[in-house]
Amino acid sequence: MSANGNSPASSMLNAQRVVVMKFGGTSVEDAIAIHRTAEIVQGRLNHGLLPFVVVSAMAKVTDFLLAAADAAGRGERAGSLAISARLRGRHLDTAGKLVAASSVHALSSRVHAEFDALDELLRGIVAVGELTPRTTDLVVSFGERLSSIVVAAAFAAVGVPGEHLDARECIVTDAEFGRAVPLEAEIANRLQKHAVPLLLTGHVPVMGGFIGATEQGITTTLGRGGSDFSAALVGGGLHAGAIEIWTDVDGIMTTDPRICADALRVKTVSFEEAAELAYFGAKVLHPATILPAVQQNIPVYVLNSRNPASEGTRITAVAPPCRSPFKCIAVKKRLTIVDIVASRMLMSHGYLKAVFDVFDKHRVVIDMVSTSEVSISVTVDTSDRLPAIAEDLRKIADVKYESNKALICMVGEDIRGHNGIAGKVFTAVEHVNVRMISQGASEINMSFMIEEEDVPEAVRSLHEAFFTNPDRAIFDVEAREQESLVQI
Ligand code: ADP
Ligand code: ASP
Ligand code: MG
Repeated sequence: MSANGNSPASSMLNAQRVVVMKFGGTSVEDAIAIHRTAEIVQGRLNHGLLPFVVVSAMAKVTDFLLAAADAAGRGERAGSLAISARLRGRHLDTAGKLVAASSVHALSSRVHAEFDALDELLRGIVAVGELTPRTTDLVVSFGERLSSIVVAAAFAAVGVPGEHLDARECIVTDAEFGRAVPLEAEIANRLQKHAVPLLLTGHVPVMGGFIGATEQGITTTLGRGGSDFSAALVGGGLHAGAIEIWTDVDGIMTTDPRICADALRVKTVSFEEAAELAYFGAKVLHPATILPAVQQNIPVYVLNSRNPASEGTRITAVAPPCRSPFKCIAVKKRLTIVDIVASRMLMSHGYLKAVFDVFDKHRVVIDMVSTSEVSISVTVDTSDRLPAIAEDLRKIADVKYESNKALICMVGEDIRGHNGIAGKVFTAVEHVNVRMISQGASEINMSFMIEEEDVPEAVRSLHEAFFTNPDRAIFDVEAREQESLVQI
């Protein structure tokens, strides 16, 4: 150890040259996508950088694994094993297309070994007749375990010096299964031990995202979409020069392009804006991703693996000034509004605490709150735990809840400098029934609740109102203009 506590190995690593590259499910969905990924990583190597690759499970695999676990939990042995068999076929088929004939046997054996372990686990769940959060985490971990093995082998086959790294050796977490909390100091130690030697010897570590393990080695997961978070944890732990989130769109867009085809790429957003829009439903980035990067001011880029030439979105500490008030319209669906009515008692001492304690007890996070003299309305993103919550709340109030609601959240640091924004927002959605309205304390978001079925209409109207003539320094208007020229 040197005087500053770093090992000699780490002091030789030029951390600024480390780039953590996270590839999402669509970027590793099949052999063609994995080839593209290898080329992108090779490009970074050619620039003298030291890539550390984090991969998601192949597209949709996590959903299938969850379905297999659920089926096993219900005692449906054949159904559960059938899902696993289809996944085995898909992984073997992809592996076969990626490595030379001489290496296929070795890679297939590893894939078979993982699936044999998965099948044994599924049979075990059927036998016990119970599916716990701990076992669910173990089942879904196979997605990233498999993709990282296949991608590392595919890299080696095309001359990218990929080396598989087991996430469970590096990403240490608590035992909150399904949404484990990472232990950052221990992660930094483990990365020094397992990843730095690989980077120093010219290897490209390839690690599965989303999964981790407790200090005792019990497998955990970081929550859906958690591979982004894994990438940020690695970036933070290694003090990397940059974190790249490679996905299937050109970057952070003004809104979900699946809802609004006119969405524009946003060239730059601040950490604060990115965190806000991720939290409020823009799936392109996991909400926790930004934290480790903020702490160390590591720039984060969101890039398109299907269009690597696009500049993507750069997320930095301070956003440049922008003429347009908003950067992005985020949408969070599948929300429930809970109306809690308690005449007279509402303002009495300790009442609000009692209400919030109920949500806390059921471990349900509240997204939005509004109060009147006699009632509190809150929104939550669960419906399955509501009957139990309502039962507890009814001891202190009348309770009603309605599901199928959506939160529209307009995000931008430049709201502050604009007058009359609320009027413009609500004129754009005047034909839609708006339920709860809130302007976040951070003053960088303006949110309101509507029916889920009104989302496409509301988002398109808002997009037209705010992004028809946006600031060209911040939004990629040229891409839209070029597209309309092609159409003419
Ligand atoms: P990955 O598998 O790469 O993690 P995700 O499906 O989790 O990809 O996230 C990418 C998707 O996020 C896009 O395909 C897009 O439909 C959706 N999305 C939602 N809001 C936005 C937004 N504001 N900008 C870009 N993409 C968004
Ligand atoms: N595979 C996990 C999921 O689908 C994690 C991720 O892709 O980020 O949620
Ligand atoms: Mg994602």
